[in-house]
Amino acid sequence: MSFARPRVLVRLQPRLLISPRTTAVRSAVLAHRLLSSSTRALAQHTQGPTRSNSPDALSSGLGKSLHHVPSPETVYDAQGKEVNPYKDGPSSIDKAVHLFFFTEILRGMWIVLENFFRPPYTIMYPFEKGPLSPRFRGEHALRRYPSGEERCIACKLCESICPAQAITIESEARLDGSRRTTKYDIDMTKCIYCGFCQEACPVDAIVETQNQEYSTETREELLYNKEKLLANGDRAEAEIAANLHSDHVYR
Ligand code: SF4
Ligand code: SF4
Repeated sequence: MSFARPRVLVRLQPRLLISPRTTAVRSAVLAHRLLSSSTRALAQHTQGPTRSNSPDALSSGLGKSLHHVPSPETVYDAQGKEVNPYKDGPSSIDKAVHLFFFTEILRGMWIVLENFFRPPYTIMYPFEKGPLSPRFRGEHALRRYPSGEERCIACKLCESICPAQAITIESEARLDGSRRTTKYDIDMTKCIYCGFCQEACPVDAIVETQNQEYSTETREELLYNKEKLLANGDRAEAEIAANLHSDHVYR
């Protein structure tokens, strides 16, 4: 034990003596490097290649002495004149006034006060509802004529244009020679609500209503058949007709 102490002291002593000074010097050098590199990066970002330490500015001379070493903050314009980048900024008095009178806090409080008396941007859905475009594409429906006759003539244009292949139609000829569907199914889980079926229909039979609230608990409930689609059309006929009328000038 008596031999171990001198070794420890010999090893620690030089470090303890040197470390405060070296630490201070290293810190000063590191701080200078950080500050100088950050100001240089900022100036390069804001001023581009017209800075004094750019190769063009240094090689062109521009009336400067070869021994003149520009500071990192020195900036030259396109003509080579030294310019002050802070000339058009706020003065020290301006900064002091803003600092001592808390103008930024007051401006922030004013914005809070303004918004306190404004109507809220949010609505209490589902009790309040936002406006919908007449072109909104929601739940599908099949329409009838005012006489009660169904409009669909089983041309199958909607079935062939549907990119999701969600529509299935079967048809037969009636005794009077007209053709009507015997089956009109839409798999709503496949539908991507593109509206192509509505655009392709020559008699405005298949439409997309503005109803968007038809979520179900089972997948089977989203397999719509002809009766379901005709019931949707009967329920929303007034709304569908008004929307088609308001939109017909664009078709
Ligand atoms: S909206 Fe598009 S995806 Fe849906 S049934 Fe019509 S055509 Fe098919
Ligand atoms: S809904 Fe329209 S496009 Fe589709 S089969 Fe009937 S008439 Fe043709």
